[in-house]
Amino acid sequence: MEYETNKSDGREKRWHIPVAALITFLFTVISTFLLMNSSVLFGPKVTTADDVGTIEDNFCRMAVDAPSPYLRCGSPVKLFEKLRQNVIATAGFDFLAKCGDMKRHEKAKFSKLGVANDSKHKIGLAFDYNQEDDRVLIVREYIAGLTYWRTYLRCEKQDGTCGVRADLDTDNAGRVSAYFFDFTNAAEGVGWERIPAQKGWEYSWKKKEFWHYQLKSSFSERTEATADTKKDRMQKEMTSTIAIPLHLLKKIFGF
Ligand SMILES: [Zn+2]
Repeated sequence: MEYETNKSDGREKRWHIPVAALITFLFTVISTFLLMNSSVLFGPKVTTADDVGTIEDNFCRMAVDAPSPYLRCGSPVKLFEKLRQNVIATAGFDFLAKCGDMKRHEKAKFSKLGVANDSKHKIGLAFDYNQEDDRVLIVREYIAGLTYWRTYLRCEKQDGTCGVRADLDTDNAGRVSAYFFDFTNAAEGVGWERIPAQKGWEYSWKKKEFWHYQLKSSFSERTEATADTKKDRMQKEMTSTIAIPLHLLKKIFGF
């Protein structure tokens, strides 16, 4: 009787060994996979090469004092920072550390003035500089029948090490003789453009729009293309990480 019992125990034990080995193997494979592809557990990480700000809903938070300091991640962020650093290095102060406006909420009511300009703000491709800075000097220009203003910044140092000395007939401070930094020229040089004043600007300050700069459309299209590529790449990464375990399980269980 004793011999029979031992024989039956031995048969059960022989069964347990391959099952335990299979479970251990599966546990090891799945754990290794999860450790190597943490995105399956925590979702894909969205990163940009901007090294600036943080990412929230595909907009990058800028280190700027503004009501809603966000720009679209990618080119807009980089080109804003490029302009900002250029102003610091050349005019001698951080003019863009404060902005009048940046990103407007998607559901914000369209202002009666400049609907198109609102939309550029809503998609994070525009900023309004701080027009209250007393170093801002604006000079009116007429281009192709439209009214624009060129923005000059009065250089921090007036010892000849910054900008160009000129006598300007400004719209906001009369005639000024000093060393100036041409902000409009610097902005246009890195991809930002100004917009013309709206009709009736003579009677409404809000229609002047000299403070508004938006990314040129050629740069905006590049941003859209980059965003699409990023989305495609993320989709592919997700597909490939899911495809690996399915492939392994198929091999193991033969389905
Ligand atoms: Zn604006």
